[in-house]
Amino acid sequence: MAFRKVSADQVISMLKGRSYKYAQVHHTWKPNHADFNGSNHIALQQGMYNYHTGTRGWSDIGQHLTLYPDGTFVTGRNFGIAPAGISGYNTGSFMIEMIGDFDLGKDKLTGEQLNSALKVYNYLVNHCGAKILFHNEKAAKSCPGTGIDKVKFVKEVTLYNGSTKTVDVKSSGSGKVKSTKTKKVNWKKVTGNWTGQTLGNGEYGEPVKQLQTKLANNTPPFYPNKGAKNNGIDSYYGNNTEDAVRRFQTYLGLDIDGLAGKQVYGALNGTNQASGVDLIVDGKWGTGVNEALQDYFNTTVDGVLSGQSRNSVTNALYGGVNFGSGGSLVIKALQRKLGVKADGLLGPATIKALQKYLGTTQDGVLSRPSMVVEEMQRRLNTGTF
Ligand SMILES: [Zn+2]
Repeated sequence: MAFRKVSADQVISMLKGRSYKYAQVHHTWKPNHADFNGSNHIALQQGMYNYHTGTRGWSDIGQHLTLYPDGTFVTGRNFGIAPAGISGYNTGSFMIEMIGDFDLGKDKLTGEQLNSALKVYNYLVNHCGAKILFHNEKAAKSCPGTGIDKVKFVKEVTLYNGSTKTVDVKSSGSGKVKSTKTKKVNWKKVTGNWTGQTLGNGEYGEPVKQLQTKLANNTPPFYPNKGAKNNGIDSYYGNNTEDAVRRFQTYLGLDIDGLAGKQVYGALNGTNQASGVDLIVDGKWGTGVNEALQDYFNTTVDGVLSGQSRNSVTNALYGGVNFGSGGSLVIKALQRKLGVKADGLLGPATIKALQKYLGTTQDGVLSRPSMVVEEMQRRLNTGTF
């Protein structure tokens, strides 16, 4: 096992063309900042490797990358193999361990380490289709540390533009939370039309105005500031607009992060409201999913895939399938969208293309329930399929 020191830019070139469902965020807790002396990257990595493969009995080190306090990374597990990070959420994940103990009152994620984290997570989100996932969302652990606020971290990642930033970390003393530092707002101008690019607190300009107008014109309306001049439509994405976006996200069951990106855009543009799609996101492909797809592709809406042959995929469906020959019109339409042979027969090749399109692991297998179906349900609901 040869570990390699790489910069954030080198990591990005290694990530080109890859897709992931989740970008996992972890801190090592131990070793922490005090264990790093500026040059012992490989020794610390070797220590973690020995712990993972020896004490824990894993086949390899758990993480794809380790991020050091000086902003450099060391490579770990092969990027094409699922990590050992969060039980139940490793398939389709990319995993970074950040050296440090980021619990309140301990190490701080700042400077070059923060900058490299933002840069690489920004690439994972914007180019690999990943969603940020904190370990503490899925396990009773504080990892990546109680000093890192997820909402703020995601926002910093999404709005990252190349310069070092300081995350708004709660200040601390002996574990007690004293206060939350408030940043002075330096309004950042954004231009053009809003077509789904991520907008967030601190920005102003025409795209923000278009977002505010869409929120106000929605049924029901979500005014930035009801009763104020223009109901708060003022081109400034401040706390009122963030609050309106959060209310809208809550109402529609979207991810609640106060940011207006592709998902909010899709929902505001009414694809889901117009078609009335409200699928349960459970990864089960049955009648409901068929109906939503038929609605999406404008084929007859009866919830049934007709003319199918028996295979590992059709056997894994939760109903809504008729066996025979000739294939199904809605599957043909789906195959055309995915750019594979349009024979109307659902099978491993179509699933593999769907997995590629939606950024989940490409193995052509339809699990019961399935991650790729879960993502398809989410996209159909938000009008972003
Ligand atoms: Zn963790």
